[in-house]
Amino acid sequence: MLFSKFFAPTSKEDPADAAIISHKLMLRSGMISQTASGIYCWLPVAVRVIEKISKIICEEQDKIGGNRVYFTTIQSADLWIESGRYDAYGKEMLRIKDRKGGNFLYSPTNEEQATDVFRKYVKSYRGLPTILYQIHWKFRDEIRPRFGVMRGREFLMKDAYSFDIDFESAKKTYEKVFKSYVQTFKRMGLIPIPVQADSGAIGGNMSHEFHILADTGESTLYYDKKLLSASDDELMTTFAVSDEKYDSQKSIISKEELMISKGIEVGHVFYFGTKYSKAMNTFVLDEKGKKVFPEMGSYGIGVSRLVAAIIESSHDDRGIIWPEAVSPFDVVILNLHLKNSKCCSVALKIYEAISFKKEVLYDDRDITVGEKLADADLIGIPWQIIIGQKKVDNGVVELKNRKTGEIIEMSSDKVIDGFLK
Ligand code: ATP
Ligand code: MG
Repeated sequence: MLFSKFFAPTSKEDPADAAIISHKLMLRSGMISQTASGIYCWLPVAVRVIEKISKIICEEQDKIGGNRVYFTTIQSADLWIESGRYDAYGKEMLRIKDRKGGNFLYSPTNEEQATDVFRKYVKSYRGLPTILYQIHWKFRDEIRPRFGVMRGREFLMKDAYSFDIDFESAKKTYEKVFKSYVQTFKRMGLIPIPVQADSGAIGGNMSHEFHILADTGESTLYYDKKLLSASDDELMTTFAVSDEKYDSQKSIISKEELMISKGIEVGHVFYFGTKYSKAMNTFVLDEKGKKVFPEMGSYGIGVSRLVAAIIESSHDDRGIIWPEAVSPFDVVILNLHLKNSKCCSVALKIYEAISFKKEVLYDDRDITVGEKLADADLIGIPWQIIIGQKKVDNGVVELKNRKTGEIIEMSSDKVIDGFLK
C-alpha cells in the first residue's frame, strides 16, 4: 500500500474533546471520524485492525464448533414481544417504524433472533449442541456515550448463542467458550482477567466478564494476585470481582494477595438456561420423543471497544504500539528522501520484495522527514524500515522496533531476508 494513496488523515493537534488516550490517538491517527454522539465512521487504519481482531475471534470460535452467521441489524418487534423484553429493554433500544406502521428496532443484541432461527430448523436432540455466532453492528442508545468508541452507541460486537440438551452439556459449552475467550484475548497481546459477574448459586446462572487492566477502565476490579500467572484452567476458579460485588468483610482473598485495578470490559459470557427457549416455545425432542427446552448461553466480545482497549494497554507518548497480531500493517517503509534516486530504488526494491509475504505500507508522501517519522510512531506499526540518504550511501538502511525504539543498521538484502523468513 502506498501511503500517498492511503486514506489515513493524521493530525499533530491534540483533540480537545477527547478525555482518554485511546480516543485521542484514534482521532490523531485518522482511524475514526465522529458523525454523531457515540457514532463513528471507521477509516482504513481502523478497518484493518478490526479485520485482524475479527479473524482471531472467528478462528477461535470455529475451533469450538461455532457457526458464523449474519443475523440482522433491523429486527421486527414481534420476537421481542414474544420473549417479553420489548417493553423491559427501555430507552437503550432504538425503535423504528416502517412505512406501513410496523414496529421494528435496531439490534442491541440478538438472543430472540438466534432462538427464532434455531427453532425453525432444529427439531431433534441430534442437532445439539449448536453455537451460532456473528460479528455485526449493534445500536444501544447509551445514556452517556463517552471515551470515543469505548462506549459508543453504534458498535461492533461478536455475539454467540449456544443451545444444549441439558445443564451438564451447557456447562461444558460454557467452559469451552470461556477457554476460547482466554485464547482469543491472549492472541491479541492482552492479559484477560475473568471476573465473576454472578455469585453463581448451584444450578443458577454462570457469568463472567472479561476485563483488561487499564487506568482508564470504567470498572474497579478486586482480584487475587495469583490470577496474573494462572493457567487457563485455573482462571475459571480464581477470584476476581468488580466493585459492586466486592465485600472486604467476606472476601476470600488475603490482604497480601489482593490487587485492586481499573479494568475495561471486553467480553462477557453468560449461561441463562431456558429463559428464552421457554418464553419462545422452542423445544427439541429427546431420544424418547419427549419435549426438551434447550439450555442456552450468550457470549459477547466488544470488537470495536477492543480496538480502543488495545491502544489503552499499548502506547507511549509518541503514539500507538500495535501488538503484531492486530497491527494494521506488518511493517512501514519510510523513504526520507524522495528526490534521491538511490533512496527511491532501495525503498522500492524492499517494498516489492516483501509485499507478497507481509502487509507493507510504503510512505512515499512528499512531506518533511520529521512529519514522516512522527506519523510512523503515531500509527504504531511494529516495524519501521527507515531509508535515508547518508545510510543508503553507506550501503545500509535502518530497522526500527516501534516498541523498544531500538534501531539496527543492515543492508537492504538482509532486511528483505528477515521479512521473508
Ligand atoms: P457495559 O457494562 O460496558 O455496558 P454490557 O454488559 O452492556 O457492557 P454486553 O451486553 O455483555 O455488555 O455486551 C458484550 C460486550 O460488548 C461487552 O463486554 C463490551 O465489550 C461490548 N459493549 C457493550 N456495550 C458497548 C458500547 N456501548 N460500546 C462499545 N462496546 C460495548
Ligand atoms: Mg451496557
